[in-house]
Amino acid sequence: MSETSTTTDPTTPDLKPGRRELDRLAGLVRAPREGRRPLEVRSPLTGEVLGVVPEGTREDVEAAVASARAVQAAWARTSTRERAGILGRYQTLVLDHQDELLDLLQAENGKARGSAFEEVADTVLNCQYYARNVGKFLRDKPRRTALPGLVRAWERHVPKGVVGLIAPWNYPLALSIGDGLPALMAGNALVLKPDSQTPYTTLRAFELLEEAGLPRGLAQVVTGPGSVVGQAIIELTDYVMFTGSTATGRRVAAQAGERLIGCSAELGGKNPMIIAADVDLDRAVRGAVAACFSNTGQLCISIERIYVERPIVEEFTARFADAVSALRLGGGQDYDSDVGSLISQDQLDKITAHIADAEAKGAKAVAGGHARPDLGPFFHEPTVLTGVTPDMDVHSDETFGPLVSIYPVDTLDEAVDRANDTDYGLNASIYIDDVRRGRRLAERVMAGTVNVNDGYQSAWAATGSPMGGMKASGLGRRHGREGLLKYTESQTIAVRSALAEKLQGGDTPAETASRLTALLRSAKHLPF
Ligand code: NAD
Repeated sequence: MSETSTTTDPTTPDLKPGRRELDRLAGLVRAPREGRRPLEVRSPLTGEVLGVVPEGTREDVEAAVASARAVQAAWARTSTRERAGILGRYQTLVLDHQDELLDLLQAENGKARGSAFEEVADTVLNCQYYARNVGKFLRDKPRRTALPGLVRAWERHVPKGVVGLIAPWNYPLALSIGDGLPALMAGNALVLKPDSQTPYTTLRAFELLEEAGLPRGLAQVVTGPGSVVGQAIIELTDYVMFTGSTATGRRVAAQAGERLIGCSAELGGKNPMIIAADVDLDRAVRGAVAACFSNTGQLCISIERIYVERPIVEEFTARFADAVSALRLGGGQDYDSDVGSLISQDQLDKITAHIADAEAKGAKAVAGGHARPDLGPFFHEPTVLTGVTPDMDVHSDETFGPLVSIYPVDTLDEAVDRANDTDYGLNASIYIDDVRRGRRLAERVMAGTVNVNDGYQSAWAATGSPMGGMKASGLGRRHGREGLLKYTESQTIAVRSALAEKLQGGDTPAETASRLTALLRSAKHLPF
């Protein structure tokens, strides 16, 4: 039983956009409507059907890959300046059309508008970063050779060809088109499969990208099940960018390995937060609320475990429970709610089962604890558990919902050990007044991103630095130089001068060895 109840927004949303606009967007799918089964897309806010998109087939993916490949060769010859210009126009279009995108995100995903806005901001940050850096990353770079000055070499990066992108439902803008932007900037074509629950935002974002100047056909969106469309993408493209569950990610990586193509997999997490006794409690409480409940907790980098130093655990828990209980839960397409709906019955079942199992084994909900069918079919209160023990499912399994557990610890060393005691390693957070000590602790946490005095935003929005998972949380990185160069093949071109040939070559192997010895000795002192 919860001790407090979450504030609610009782309004029933009138969803935007209307059916006509959604049908128009469905027409952008690279699959004919005729002869394809309709895939129903329902809004989690009401449970009602929003519209239908065609259920794509393997043939549709074949056609998409073939036509994308045909356009890609010319695209690879465009200058990086021209490509960056498209990103510049795209970010303006995304900002100008943000209300439409936010409506779509809320209607098909159920998230609160503030969480939807994070996707818009993320897309713009990516545009700015890659527009500014694509030229630098892709410029041919002179590299040292065995005979400096006599043999010259350049490192180049050439596009993979057609990149396949398989996206999840939790960030239908940032983790679909957003992750595709660096692939396109690197000179590739893109074939993208959105999750079947959230195709519309991706389609509108894709349309805006063409409006910004992306050549028609270079990017293609195919809707349909992972078992058909996702599989065909893995079999037919030249590199796969996958975001989703660890279970599916393992299969995708194994299949990519079999084909000897590269893949990047951004997977699950059971992300820890550490709270030191010296912390400003107001700041820690605010940070923990945002870190646990943004995007209704359906955020791969959201916090699900909080380790608090024992002297402050009682006060932190009481203040945190109050702040969580004051969150406004609701489904209006405005900024009046803090937390939205879960996306589906599966997600609701997962959180409900975790809470029931934990309570049956002795844990206690100090905030929330209940589903809220009065607000919509999949709403659930943001929930805080105490007294969680290792035999409870919630202790180690990812919930991927608005549920967090608080654990007291005796020392920060113990907190780091327990933070690392997981198969995952995606994101972590440390709240501490002594920032230098915070950085040293951060270096000991085995996670791809660690935020000091923030939950997840600071490291995520550091678009110049890589983001991704250690251990079972993934392979490869998005953002930064790696986030673009992973979509390329490295190539070395070396040119040998006539003089090099003359100086190197002796009449006998012994003479050649002797000349090379002399050249190697002198090369040691060259400054380049
Ligand atoms: P999921 O793995 O079920 O689905 C992800 C995508 O893969 C969907 O588009 C789906 O249709 C497709 N797919 C499913 N089976 C496939 C197959 N056999 N072959 C090819 N494609 C297939 O995951 P989900 O339920 O959509 O997402 C929830 C999970 O994703 C959570 O575990 C979460 O932590 C993780 N996630 C991670 C990140 C990250 O950046 N690390 C971001 C978002 C979500």
